[in-house]
Amino acid sequence: MSSTAPASAPRPNFLRVAVAKPLRGLFDYSLPAEAAVPPLGARVEVPFGNTRVIGVCMEYATETHITKHKPIHRVLDPTHPALPADALAMARWLASYYLHPIGEVVSSLLPAAARRGAALALPPTTSYQLIQPADSTRSLDVPPAELKRSSKQQALWRFLHERGQAADAQTLAAAGFGKPIIKALLAKQLLTEREEAAAASQALLAAPPLELTTEQASALRTITANPGQFGVHLLDGVTGSGKTEVYLQAIAAVFERGLQVLVLVPEIALTPQTLARFRDRFGTAASLHSKVNDSKRLQTWVRCRDGLEPLLIGTRSAILTPFQRLGLIIVDEEHDPSFKQTDGLRYSARDLAVKRARDLNIPLVLGSATPALESLHNVATGRYQRSLLTDRPGGAQMPAMRLLDIRGARLQEGLAPELFAVIEQHLNAGNQALIFINRRGYAPTYLCIGCQWQAKCPNCSARFTLHQRPRELRCHHCGQRAAIPNACPECKTGALIAIGVGTQRTEEALSARFPDTELIRVDRDSTRSQRRLEQQLEQINKGEPALLVGTQMLAKGHHFPSVTLVVIVDADSGFLAADYRAPERTAALITQVAGRAGRAERPGEVIIQTLHPTNPVLTALIDGGYPRFADIELANRAAAGFPPYAPIALLRADGLDADSPQRLLESLVAPLGPRNSSSSEPPQRIQVSMPAPAPMGRIAGRFRYQCLITAIDRAGLHRALAQIVQAAPPSRHGRLSWSVDVDPYDTY
Ligand code: ADP
Ligand code: ZN
Ligand code: ZN
Repeated sequence: MSSTAPASAPRPNFLRVAVAKPLRGLFDYSLPAEAAVPPLGARVEVPFGNTRVIGVCMEYATETHITKHKPIHRVLDPTHPALPADALAMARWLASYYLHPIGEVVSSLLPAAARRGAALALPPTTSYQLIQPADSTRSLDVPPAELKRSSKQQALWRFLHERGQAADAQTLAAAGFGKPIIKALLAKQLLTEREEAAAASQALLAAPPLELTTEQASALRTITANPGQFGVHLLDGVTGSGKTEVYLQAIAAVFERGLQVLVLVPEIALTPQTLARFRDRFGTAASLHSKVNDSKRLQTWVRCRDGLEPLLIGTRSAILTPFQRLGLIIVDEEHDPSFKQTDGLRYSARDLAVKRARDLNIPLVLGSATPALESLHNVATGRYQRSLLTDRPGGAQMPAMRLLDIRGARLQEGLAPELFAVIEQHLNAGNQALIFINRRGYAPTYLCIGCQWQAKCPNCSARFTLHQRPRELRCHHCGQRAAIPNACPECKTGALIAIGVGTQRTEEALSARFPDTELIRVDRDSTRSQRRLEQQLEQINKGEPALLVGTQMLAKGHHFPSVTLVVIVDADSGFLAADYRAPERTAALITQVAGRAGRAERPGEVIIQTLHPTNPVLTALIDGGYPRFADIELANRAAAGFPPYAPIALLRADGLDADSPQRLLESLVAPLGPRNSSSSEPPQRIQVSMPAPAPMGRIAGRFRYQCLITAIDRAGLHRALAQIVQAAPPSRHGRLSWSVDVDPYDTY
């Protein structure tokens, strides 16, 4: 597809423009006779209501049925379109698959600065080169005499001399040469300075690859066998089995063909260490994630689009980045919930990666120690190819897992008394113990034993969590805070007590019991910044005996060679939750946390406290590991008619009163009702639940309702959803809003 108007076609009089509004469809604008035709994918400024907005030109038209059309105001990208043709195709697919307004989709494909109209040009780089001396009597390898008095200036001279070519300011800065030293050499007329167009980053093999194990080598062969062909490879490898080394060598093979690579990692895993592993190997790796500022984001985006970055490592939204010549996509920890966007355009980056790889006809690698049930199902049906990594290189042992039945036990701050002795043994042996509780704060419930009053958030259907330091009540859903009452607000006399445990309470109990042992707590309260997390990880990696207490922040992706004991304080709440995906999430989390233990030569031990020691999914996990759990849970999903056996979508509505969201949902699904003869779908192929309050019925003052739609096949589901959306009012109107979530990750 060409992005400019074909010469033979008549000049378009109209442009169909995607505008970021919660309205469906494109908007027609006329193209003034004197204006040049912008390429498709170009940004155009257009009048909209009483304002002007920036949209993207999606189609040309010679006529329009709009009678009061207005002309476009200006073209922002007259020659080089902002979005290439494959990005426009991706936008159309996203809009139709996720039933989201096309204008909002196109807008989310652009970096924020581009949405506001910033130029998509890269600033030129300044590069410096030594001037060869005219004086041939001087020795060429010795810095000239003018530099005698400054060792720094000599060092810069040597650096450039050894390099033998120009270096840009960034390279020099990275090598420790700042502006003043450069200026000094310029002043002495030893350097030339030149402005150059932004250059491509070069990937080189900066460090040698490791020698692969037999399993790794076989996985690599499978992945690289058909480089110019679509194929999804599930790299199913236990934690520490060396998946990253397989990625690195697969990437090197793609670089040899001159193509680009995109690696997606979960939000929580994109640490400086992760980036360092790629940069150490290839000398370069661009990154995109939530902390990258707008101007850097714009530059990285343009560099990927224009083929100047060989490697991009990013979180979810990096999958929306256009590439000039993408040759491979890798999704690490493909099961991770952070790949699904839960508001606005509710896409799954993993699923979109499959779509992109298919369109580009390139391989996709999905890596995980705990693959998503969908992915395992796709392996079973032959759609994905699986490579297993069952061993850890270097012979590190997988930890042994066991259940600790705490029925009738007198727990001390949530921990069975015998655990203290086990923890002590591990500490005395010079090791570290990791105590995992997926709940921050001190206690999740604060209540009156006299009248059963509970501290609840006034804005949400949720209890307040009790926090220490500062001592207060906090809502984990809307952020509301409140003072801790001294007396029961209901009966005025009953005693108030904290029930249940969070990380702060466990920290308190353990530091009372092990006052001389270092205790490192990692959760969103203790560890607010990436820098703090870095410091804590550094402390942990010193390897001295220590207690680590934390939430899932501690569970994912980090290497803790000295941890030999992992205690999972509460496995039950996850397995018993109402959400259909909760067991899968919990089993993955337990397996991931367990994988922190015994990574080096020290064998590990994992103890899981439970009140339900006979729960079949839990015992499957303990006895047969994640694969056995997955088999059982897949059978449960099949029996219940849930994904991956039947596609589902969730319609949600929320508003400021309790009635209107429900009424809105009822009207939305009305076209599918059995009495409505215009419905194209036989009723038994589609099931629509009664609109009902969501499990979290109210968040931040808004009442939430939902309605589940299941179908026996995807085509049927999409026909039904399209019917709903066509007849629906705008997704935000007045105080009501509604959304459709295709393949929802959770049903809250
Ligand atoms: P995963 O991503 O599967 O959890 P990693 O890639 O982090 O595993 O590898 C775990 C450890 O094993 C790392 O320290 C890595 O350097 C090492 N490793 C990986 N492959 C090999 C190999 N073939 N030979 C030696 N060590 C390896
Ligand atoms: Zn009371
Ligand atoms: Zn709240």
